[in-house]
Amino acid sequence: MDFTFSEEQDLFREAVNEWLAKNLTLEQVRQNDTNHELPKKLIKGMGDLGLLCLTLPEEDGGSGADWVTATIGAEELGYADISVAAPVFYLVQASWGYVINKLASETVKEKYIRRAGSGNGFLGIGVTEPGGGSDVAGFKTNLVPHKDGGWNLNGEKCYISGTAEAVDLDGGYFVSGFTKREDGHRGMTAAFVPLNYEGVEITKRFENMGRMAISTGGFQMTDVHIPEEYQLGETNRGFYNTMEGFDAARVLVSASCIGASQRALEIGMDYIKEREAFGQPLAKYQGIQFDLADMVAHHEAIKSLIYKTAWMLDEKYKNGRFSALEVSKYLSMVKYLAPHHALDVFRRVMYWHGAYGYTQECPLEMGLRGVMSYCIGAEGAANIQKIVISRETLGRNWTKTR
Ligand SMILES: Cc1cc2nc3c(=O)[nH]c(=O)nc-3n(C[C@H](O)[C@H](O)[C@H](O)COP(=O)(O)OP(=O)(O)OC[C@H]3O[C@@H](n4cnc5c(N)ncnc54)[C@H](O)[C@@H]3O)c2cc1C
Repeated sequence: MDFTFSEEQDLFREAVNEWLAKNLTLEQVRQNDTNHELPKKLIKGMGDLGLLCLTLPEEDGGSGADWVTATIGAEELGYADISVAAPVFYLVQASWGYVINKLASETVKEKYIRRAGSGNGFLGIGVTEPGGGSDVAGFKTNLVPHKDGGWNLNGEKCYISGTAEAVDLDGGYFVSGFTKREDGHRGMTAAFVPLNYEGVEITKRFENMGRMAISTGGFQMTDVHIPEEYQLGETNRGFYNTMEGFDAARVLVSASCIGASQRALEIGMDYIKEREAFGQPLAKYQGIQFDLADMVAHHEAIKSLIYKTAWMLDEKYKNGRFSALEVSKYLSMVKYLAPHHALDVFRRVMYWHGAYGYTQECPLEMGLRGVMSYCIGAEGAANIQKIVISRETLGRNWTKTR
């Protein structure tokens, strides 16, 4: 067993870390959070660095990176942008962009995908509906055959990351709906839906609690004609295509949370070494040291599990060593653990800061608000992760939840 990264991966981490230290400081993260916007310059810079869509093949605008490398990118971005807004912009495209590209026709690649890697596009995921995100069988979106070929799509998606950016950058979404409702999840089909398309209308931008620099919105699709070349993958395989996207996204979500919590720990350690109470630095008190030890031990355990999971994902794709179901259990474990760990770290480190930690002069509250999105639901709610973990542990035949 060898826990080292390849030389290429180490160099990638170093390059990303250095670039972010200059181009995405905590002051800039605060500005982005206040302005509710990721600056164009930042997006362009991420593209120039090869960070955007990096899991896509080079010929499709990516860097052909493996999942361990993509995980390193997510961790570094989370470390730099603890609000997790820039990590969202990155990870949605590295994961869902990967699946969209894998299933896309030459037309969709040429029109929408290949330019996203340079920051001139956006590839997102539109699964959740106003009626709920976890219960796929309850989705209302339908695709029925169109008279001119392809599908006629009707439905509404909401709580969707990056809708304003997608409009601005002429991007689109992986959307799935029912083509054969009576077959349940086996009757769903995926399509690529550009937001600037006839019949697609933005319904709203939510005033979120955190990660303010990236939008979360909704869109209505009314009689949208999906030509054959905009269908993603085979008919009635949409559910399975969706699960592949969630898998890829979950490891990157977890890595961005572990990166953010690493930064919180460092901010906290600097503070407790300086701040004095009752005649000595806070870091001298065992009560504080035990708090730190508890967080660091959990941090290292979860981080190791994240990289093991990314490695398993690579092995699944490269040589089929692990099945999708085996990997999904690990992906759900890290998606469940990492955001909650990060939330816990931000909260505890804020306590160390006393009243200052509660102000916007201190960066920590941005992290607390940001990682909460991943505890709540983005890329799958916590209880859904627990359902996957227990189902794959007890055995599918026994639990019969799918
Ligand atoms: C900031 C943000 C960004 C998002 N971005 C996107 C995006 O880009 N694309 C997208 O498609 N979606 C996105 N989402 C939506 C996200 O995927 C959903 O929040 C998630 O799937 C849960 O769906 P829901 O919010 O409708 O909650 P529900 O499905 O209504 O669940 C509500 C609660 O019930 C629990 N629950 C549900 N079923 C069970 C069960 N069987 N047993 C026990 N408990 C259960 C859940 O854990 C949750 O706590 C985003 C969400 C947020 C917060």
